[in-house]
Amino acid sequence: MSYKALAAGIPVILVEPAYTSNTCHQCHHIGNRKGKEFSCPSCGWSGDADVNYPPMNWRA
Ligand SMILES: [Zn+2]
Repeated sequence: MSYKALAAGIPVILVEPAYTSNTCHQCHHIGNRKGKEFSCPSCGWSGDADVNYPPMNWRA
């Protein structure tokens, strides 16, 4: 599927499905998510849990 998307000029973002919105954007550790809020116990980053993630994750 990825090569078809590339051929069509669609950006492909690879993520691990099981941790799609639980992974810290800064250090890639698994953090804590509450709704749309995310906090990372490893580096202290916190903010919108859906930042930098594909649209498919925007709807629960
Ligand atoms: Zn972190």
